[in-house]
Amino acid sequence: MVNRQFVLARRPAGMPQESDLRIVETPVPSPRDGEVLLRALYLSVDPYMRGRMNAARSYAPPVEIGEVMVGGAVARVVESKNPAWQPGDIVNLMMGWQEYAVSSGDGLRRIDPAIAPVSTALGVLGMPGLTAYFGLLEVCGVNAGETVVVSAAAGAVGSVVGQIARIKGCRAVGIAGGPEKCNYIVKELGFDAAIDYKNESVPDGLRKHCPKGVNVYFDNVGGQILDDVLAQLARGARVVICGAISQYNSTTGIRGPSNYLSLLINSARMEGFVVFNYLSRYGEAAREMAGWMMAGKLKSREDIVEGFETFPDTLLKLFRGENFGKLMIKVG
Ligand code: NDP
Repeated sequence: MVNRQFVLARRPAGMPQESDLRIVETPVPSPRDGEVLLRALYLSVDPYMRGRMNAARSYAPPVEIGEVMVGGAVARVVESKNPAWQPGDIVNLMMGWQEYAVSSGDGLRRIDPAIAPVSTALGVLGMPGLTAYFGLLEVCGVNAGETVVVSAAAGAVGSVVGQIARIKGCRAVGIAGGPEKCNYIVKELGFDAAIDYKNESVPDGLRKHCPKGVNVYFDNVGGQILDDVLAQLARGARVVICGAISQYNSTTGIRGPSNYLSLLINSARMEGFVVFNYLSRYGEAAREMAGWMMAGKLKSREDIVEGFETFPDTLLKLFRGENFGKLMIKVG
């Protein structure tokens, strides 16, 4: 039996090329006493993976040349020599870009298929959903009646941010690329308004849809959109730097905001965060989110691509804005 893996062949300059990654075949590993053998069902495709291809210092170490790329997965236990796990159990783990892996059981999170489709453990009930939850409720803090703006609003994190804002009684305004995504967040997800940054002026849209200014900005994209929102903050606003996808492939350095003095004028704050800071509280948050899902208050959309071998091109969909919902690859 063969285990296919994607390893980093070269550090990309700008947008990754397929040749920056290499597929290798190794024998499927055998579990020793205390270990389990896992087979991937769904592999998560996330923007942070681009950062791990760089050598630069970050909140997590880079992937080294020749190493298997990092990544989260939903997998099935196929063989167990650990009494805590049985063949057939479904788990969530950091498995890397490969079809099989052996684990000691550390870091495995059991998934109950009765609660929701198991793929949601990579999306709304997994890392992206938890990013939205903690970024909005813990880092920013929201009060009913406030206006929350989120960018990449139709994506895995952004779509959850807007829906939680609505659950908390806020006005939710999403910034997304194209009419289809904008219609979706308003008509399907219940956002109050959408701004199509590819076809309309973001400053005009913000003035129209946030007449009292922006109380909370959940930034997923950085660049010009961050600057545009900074210019329209309300007094006491909170800006959370969750990501800056418009900058991840820059070859000329990260573009910083020029409108930052708006923070001074409005006694506002801007703060970055990483979801892993809240690891010990994942269970509690996921339970609350599952409750919202079952009550019909929280919806999600997944963009599932078939085939392990599509991984390099599938990753690029994120940077081209071609994914519509949480992007993942179906393997098993
Ligand atoms: P998404 O599902 O939102 O997919 C990425 C989306 O980003 C694309 O669909 C596209 O949407 C948008 N985008 C791509 N390029 C640009 C650009 N140049 N300008 C504006 N928008 C762009 O991804 P995720 O929800 O997984 O991630 C969203 C953000 O959250 C990322 O920045 C990611 O790094 C960050 N993140 C941070 C975490 C943390 O702990 N801090 C944890 C998880 C994610 P559109 O078509 O609308 O342009």
